[in-house]
Amino acid sequence: MTATLRQRNVVILGSTGSIGTSTLDVIRRHPDRFSVLALTAHRNIDLLVAQCVEFKPRIVAVPDAERAARTREALTARGLQDIEVMDTPTHLAQVAAHADADMIMAAIVGAAGLPATLAAVEAGKTVLLANKEALVMSGPLFMQAARRAGALLLPIDSEHNAIFQALPVNFREGLDRAGVRKIILTASGGPFRTLPLDALQSVTPDEACAHPNWVMGRKISVDSATMMNKGLEVIEARWLFNAAPDQVEVLIHPQSIIHSMVSYHDGSVLAQLGNPDMRTPIACAMAWPERIDAGVAPLDLTRSGRLDFEAPDETRFPCLKLAREAMLRGGGAPTLLNAANEVAVEAFLDQRLPFMRIADVVKSVLDELPVEELPDLDAVYAADRSAREVASRSVMSRIFASTP
Ligand code: NAD
Ligand code: MG
Repeated sequence: MTATLRQRNVVILGSTGSIGTSTLDVIRRHPDRFSVLALTAHRNIDLLVAQCVEFKPRIVAVPDAERAARTREALTARGLQDIEVMDTPTHLAQVAAHADADMIMAAIVGAAGLPATLAAVEAGKTVLLANKEALVMSGPLFMQAARRAGALLLPIDSEHNAIFQALPVNFREGLDRAGVRKIILTASGGPFRTLPLDALQSVTPDEACAHPNWVMGRKISVDSATMMNKGLEVIEARWLFNAAPDQVEVLIHPQSIIHSMVSYHDGSVLAQLGNPDMRTPIACAMAWPERIDAGVAPLDLTRSGRLDFEAPDETRFPCLKLAREAMLRGGGAPTLLNAANEVAVEAFLDQRLPFMRIADVVKSVLDELPVEELPDLDAVYAADRSAREVASRSVMSRIFASTP
């Protein structure tokens, strides 16, 4: 007799995004294992409704009354009036902590994802963490909350998922005890790794979003182009794996085949390899500790050809340096860095700020604001708000400076 699997109830925060849709694709392949309890979306109501038609969640949350009303109407028109539609930002946190939820995919982009991601953590859930900004802005508090509630954090970021796979199971007792010397985060270097420096002045949002190896949302694509993404990931790795700041290294690897490595005291280096497709880390985390089909083509090293490596160039990528400095300063510095970066990236995507000025805006915020300890979440949100104000002013002054 074959044992029947208990279906696990999944909540997807940010189901209409790049990670959200890849998560649903993994679920689509394993209807016996996973059932969708709740989906949340921000603007793309048409896609959310299509997802409801296919996956029949019990609840959807859209944190805006007008868009939620449109969702309700569209669901009723499709005979899906039994799906409960929640309509405020607080509802995102409510679905994230739902009593029937087994696992929460935290895939909202940016600081907007923190309240709901943290609610899942505080409810002691299995949290699949894609929303790195939530962890970066509240590192110690986030990790304390996870320990206190017994939440299981499974990394979705491909690098952190690779490291998670290459670490021994007891890594939470301390990296030294586990024999780990260093964590090596690989980075593709993004679309501008070899572009002449003066050409960087005039790159457009579409060019910045055309990543050579990965298809991702626009914010993280710009972060990859500035390498702020890798900076955020260094901070993310520090917290997720309880690493000392100098235990996390960055190595450029343009082919994105090795997703990261762990270097051990005995000289061994364990790497995780695969085609660059987020369904691999998503499936790995969703089925953990089992392995399931993710729909990803097997890696054929005879076809992927050579693998190259080089040290990152911090002149070309000042954001990487700013992130490392913020990590070393500690306290609220990563919170300020993250908020300033979100404001600057949005301004770049709206064509209000040149690409090369993103780092300047972030630096101006870190130079201007005091770095304080953040004892609680109110302090985190206050630091986030101040950084956004200063960053917005900094963006404005740069626009006026460049207007003839
Ligand atoms: P995306 O822009 O494609 O999707 C973002 C999702 O968040 C959407 O569903 C959107 O509805 C929702 N959202 C946006 N603003 C919101 C708000 N104010 N309130 C509620 N919901 C909101 O982004 P993505 O590329 O899927 O990235 C999601 C997260 O995963 C990011 O933190 C990113 O850094 C991380 N991540 C993404 C990838 C990738 O390959 N895309 C890889 C690693 C990590
Ligand atoms: Mg990554």
